[in-house]
Amino acid sequence: MTETETRNHRAGTQQNGVAAAEASTVDDAFDDTYTEKEGPRPPMRLVWRNIIAMSLLHLGALYGITLVPSAHALTLLWSVVCYLISALGVTAGVHRLWSHRSYKASLPLRIFLALGNSMAFENDIYEWSRDHRSHHKYSETNADPHNAKRGFFFSHVGWLLVRKHPDVIEKGQKLDVSDLRADAVVMFQRRHYKLSVVLMCFVVPSVVPLLWGEALAVGYFVPGLLRYAVVLNATWLVNSAAHMWGYRPYDKSIYPRENMLVALGAAGEGFHNYHHTFPFDYSTSEYGWRLNITTAFIDLMCLLGLASDRKKVSKETLLARVQRTGDSSARSG
Ligand SMILES: [Zn+2]
Ligand SMILES: [Zn+2]
Repeated sequence: MTETETRNHRAGTQQNGVAAAEASTVDDAFDDTYTEKEGPRPPMRLVWRNIIAMSLLHLGALYGITLVPSAHALTLLWSVVCYLISALGVTAGVHRLWSHRSYKASLPLRIFLALGNSMAFENDIYEWSRDHRSHHKYSETNADPHNAKRGFFFSHVGWLLVRKHPDVIEKGQKLDVSDLRADAVVMFQRRHYKLSVVLMCFVVPSVVPLLWGEALAVGYFVPGLLRYAVVLNATWLVNSAAHMWGYRPYDKSIYPRENMLVALGAAGEGFHNYHHTFPFDYSTSEYGWRLNITTAFIDLMCLLGLASDRKKVSKETLLARVQRTGDSSARSG
């Protein structure tokens, strides 16, 4: 089956609520016809507001580390809970649900994921999803918001500290995001984004520990800033480390790699060679729950009737792809 045939073939069989899928239903498939414009890259314009905010956040997170030994055990547990809610708001929410539409979620689950997404404070769902579709469609070009060809620092955090490359804006505006516009939860979160971030990312994590007599400062710096900085860096490692280090068992011609350390820190998002090869697969990996708490969460939500229509690449397509384009490191089959 040729590449074009693979992308255009959307039929699938249904098994245990998991449908075999062969292609994306959203505008996230790699566009191999796109070529970058010739000529020098336009000069980088620093965004000082973001540089100062990120510096202060990381200083605050470092101070938070010094408070960990004196924190109440329940505060530490609460920090882990906040980490999980915000991580799922990114992985199960804006990534696998809204960017890739790899499964369907009921209204209560979408509201929970949107709240988690505001707790993660990584741009609103609409903008994150649009940027992420550009990342898949134009990977490692000037139209990729965090082009890994520009180095570790740029793809990790640098891209947030400078103005977007004009090609990111130009191509982003042409992407089909009609499904995001039609989702009331996405547009509500976008309209009330600032308030939702203040409440979910800062106020709620900081004040809940007051219930067991924790000092407000510890709540602010540990489940607040330290947890926020850890979630940010775990997400960024998917764009930096998982585009640089690891095997490429599914497609050796692309940058993204299988990176187990990133999978561990980013709730299952480190199987990145698989994910860029099959962006429509709800599990982002062929190995189910292994190092993949997000897949376990989505499966649980399906069991509870809150999610449905998980898309999974078929075994035949997977094996054929491994044979055709993999780097021979695959253990599948
Ligand atoms: Zn990527
Ligand atoms: Zn993705």
